[in-house]
Amino acid sequence: MEKYVNDDAIKLDCGNLCCPRCGDAFGLHSAGVEVWGRSHDAAQGLHVSINEVEFKPALVATTDLEDNPSSRRQGISVRFWCEQCAAGFALTFAQHKGSEIVTFEEHPELTKVVMKYMT
Ligand SMILES: [Zn+2]
Repeated sequence: MEKYVNDDAIKLDCGNLCCPRCGDAFGLHSAGVEVWGRSHDAAQGLHVSINEVEFKPALVATTDLEDNPSSRRQGISVRFWCEQCAAGFALTFAQHKGSEIVTFEEHPELTKVVMKYMT
């Protein structure tokens, strides 16, 4: 899974978010969001997601923190897919000791769905 973690990974072109893989500024589509809420180092918290499954929105609310991008606090993940290169991505925000760590990485499950509908 490709991760785009350098300072150049997140680019805008005329206010449009560019695809981290192909660089195109006019092909990204948002496809869902996940939010993890957790107090400082707490063992339990909340996880809410609204994601498109096979292009139908689905809401899930659990206490599962397993995929939280932050190992200590809150995390956010926004999913995108690119119509130019047919790949899925997650833009994540992880709160950690006063830093907000931002990562763009490929999302293999979303890429499979996009490939299914684009080919
Ligand atoms: Zn692309």
